[in-house]
Order: sequence, then structure tokens, then C-alpha cells
Amino acid sequence: MTESIKYLLDESRIPKSWYNIMADLPAPPPPVLHPGTLKPVGPDDLAPLFPMSLIAQEVTTEREVEIPEPVRDIYRQWRPSPLYRARRLEQVLQTPAKIYYKYEGVSPSGSHKPNTAVAQAFYNREAGIRRISTETGAGQWGSSLAFAGALFGIEVQVFMVRVSYDQKPYRRALMETYGARCTPSPSDETQSGRAILAKRPDHPGSLGIAISEAVEVAASRDDTKYALGSVLNHVLLHQTVIGLEAMAQMEMAGDAPDIVIGCTGGGSNFAGIAFPYIGAALRGGKKARFIAVEPAACPSLTRGKYAYDFGDTAHLTPLAKMHTLGSTFTPPGFHAGGLRYHGMAPLVSHLKELGLIDAVAYHQKPCFEAGVTFARAEGIVPAPESNHAVRAAVDEALRCKEEGKSRVILFNLSGHGHFDMQAYTDYFAGKLVDQSYDEAELAMALAGLPSVKAA
Ligand SMILES: *Cc1c(COP(=O)(O)O)cnc(C)c1O
Repeated sequence: MTESIKYLLDESRIPKSWYNIMADLPAPPPPVLHPGTLKPVGPDDLAPLFPMSLIAQEVTTEREVEIPEPVRDIYRQWRPSPLYRARRLEQVLQTPAKIYYKYEGVSPSGSHKPNTAVAQAFYNREAGIRRISTETGAGQWGSSLAFAGALFGIEVQVFMVRVSYDQKPYRRALMETYGARCTPSPSDETQSGRAILAKRPDHPGSLGIAISEAVEVAASRDDTKYALGSVLNHVLLHQTVIGLEAMAQMEMAGDAPDIVIGCTGGGSNFAGIAFPYIGAALRGGKKARFIAVEPAACPSLTRGKYAYDFGDTAHLTPLAKMHTLGSTFTPPGFHAGGLRYHGMAPLVSHLKELGLIDAVAYHQKPCFEAGVTFARAEGIVPAPESNHAVRAAVDEALRCKEEGKSRVILFNLSGHGHFDMQAYTDYFAGKLVDQSYDEAELAMALAGLPSVKAA
């Protein structure tokens, strides 16, 4: 093992620190702006929403941020998560490539999201917070924060996008089992929700609207803070535990990836696996290709604009420069609810602008096709979101076959699909359609971007 990795792990092989890519960037990302003054936000602006320890992590440029011992202690239940070589998939594809995957579905809620949920609950609890509001799309984040809240004695209220609330009763039941309260969004519990319902009582909801509701609750109640499951710097930081472990595990396997792949909704699991490798490359280590894979029906990185935008629909959040489809954009319904967000993490967007990562977009049918091939070879049924990463890994492996080249491919299998079997049932019944978004709506949403002069 290289010295730097040894330093980060102890005998339990769980990293002692998260890795902060801010320390190694060739240029800093543009600042986050206050929506009123258009000046960079300060810690006090964010204090109603987050505990100071997380606000500090949002802006720190320290390369290593220590993982608190109580958090590592909980990580021990499922970390280090396994890294597998997909030998049977390689055989099925008849590829000379070596395919490795890091499997995050072994966490209690079945995805990578508890890596940050546990950390966020810990810092909130340390700051004396007893109540957290949040949003969830497919329910993966809501159930992860509900789990973390249960461990730390924090009450959790989850605004769940209405379509998912109706379509995914078992995710809701999981949240309630952990003790969280789940409210379909838009709801009549907030001003933002009531404003939407007044215009359209049967509104299916969106992540942007659910974020508005959760932020509004936190901003208007002294006893409540807000938590976000992706996008923010501190969330991406917590997820680097994935890539740091993968680096050590790949070294044990005697390989180093030429290609690193992750699916992207808000960017956190991709950042988790890729950032430690990108940082190592920036410090003069081995170079690799990094591929962010997004849904063609919600393609922020490949079709969005790199511009300042709000994180939510009601415009309660600060402005961040990111690849965005516009905060009023409602993506069509498809079976990877966790990827239906209008924006992309500012750090992932910045890396895209710097030319350090690539992005591709896929429709859902080819993703499910790859997911089924993967399940039949490897036994694990991927989450619909993760199928996007599987598709890209399969395509890279097939390209290796065409070119007669052996490359090492590493992808992040961000979660299992056990709560998403309806999506597989629909796929087998031929009911999935490869929907495109409405071009006119996208143009309108982009035209509505806030105007911000070069900061
Ligand atoms: C939430 C989720 C995603 C998308 O979110 P990111 O922040 O982009 O990682 C991907 N896969 C799974 C399994 C998820 O639950």
C-alpha cells in the first residue's frame, strides 16, 4: 500500500479521514452567492439551516478531515464495503477488460447515502439539534437519514416527492419503521407547498419543490435544521470514504483503474468513488478517465447550462454555480427517482469545466438491460440509478473488446434495487418508455435562470 493510503487507514481498514478535493484543485470553484445581495454567503447566512461544524466543512481547504470516532464506529457495521471483480460479467461480455465494482448496497438502507446521513446526524446531535427536516425523491435519502436519526435520537421529517410517495409505499414504510414522519410534497404544511397546490392541486411534486418545503420548515423553526443528501461540498466529502477504501482494496488486488465510473443525480456517489483518484492524479499519480453517467431524461451535465442557479423551486436557497436545467424544470417521470434533480454538485460541475471528468447520458431501457445482464452474472440486483453506471461500465468493456485492449474499469454500484422491483416488473412487461424531456419547458426553465454578473 502507498504511504498516503496507509496513513488514512487503521487496522479496521476504515479511513480515518475523509478526502477533500478542494486542497488539490488547480483553481477554486466559484463562490456560493446570497440570493439577495449576490455577495458570497458567509457562515451566518447558513446558520439557520446547518450546524457550524458542517458549514466549516463546506468551505474548508484542508486535504484531510478527520472522521469522528462515533461515526467510524457506526460505519464499522457495513464498512469497508466490498470491492468485487466482476469475473462472470467479464466472461459474459467476452471482454479483455477487468471490471471491478465497489458495492454500497450493503448499508442498512441499501445505498451509499448513510455515509453522509450518519455524519450529518452526528454533527447535528453534537450541536444539540433534536429535529431535522429533509426531502427525498425515490426514498433512498429519506430512509438513510431516518436510520441515522434513529441512532442519534433525532426526530426526522421527510418531504417525499408525491409521485414516489404514491408509487413506493415500502420506502415510506421503511422511513416510518425508523421513526421518521413522511409527508407527501407538495404539502399544505408550508407556504411553498400551498402556493404550488393552489395552482395545481394534483401536482406530482419534484425534488426542487420538496427541498423548498424542507428548507422552509428548518428556516422557520428554531429547533429544526435541514439536511441535504447530495450536491453540497460536505456531502461529497463524506462520500469519499468509498473511493479511499477502493484505492486500498484495488492495491490489494494489484490493479489500478484506467476508467472510474459513477452515476450522477446530485453527484455524491460519483464524487465518492472518483475524487480520491482525481486528487491522486492531480498530485502527480496515475491518470485515469472519470465518467459521470446521467439519465438522458434529466441531463444536467451534458445538456444543462453552467450558470448560477437556485437549489430549489421556491428560491429559498443560496445561488450556486453548477450545470443546471433550471430550478423550475420538472423532469419526466422515469424509474431512477434518485437522478431526477435539475442541478449538479458545484464541485462536480467545476471539474467538468476544468476538463477533469467526462459525462455521458443514457436512456433508461439500455440501463435496465445492462442491469439485468449484471444481475444474471453477479447475482446483485442494482438500483435503477446504479444501472446507469453498470451500462457505462459494460459499454467501456465492450469497447475494450472491439479495440482488443485490456483496461481496468472500476465502477460504483451505489445501491441495490430491492425496493425498486416494480421498475424491473415494468421493464420485463415492456412498459418502460425512453422519455425525453420537453424541449420547450427546458428552454423556458433556462431562460428563467437568475441573472448574475461574473462573480
Ligand atoms: C440517491 C442515489 C443516487 C444519486 O445520487 P448521487 O448524489 O448522484 O449519488 C444514485 N444511486 C443511488 C442508489 C441513490 O440512492
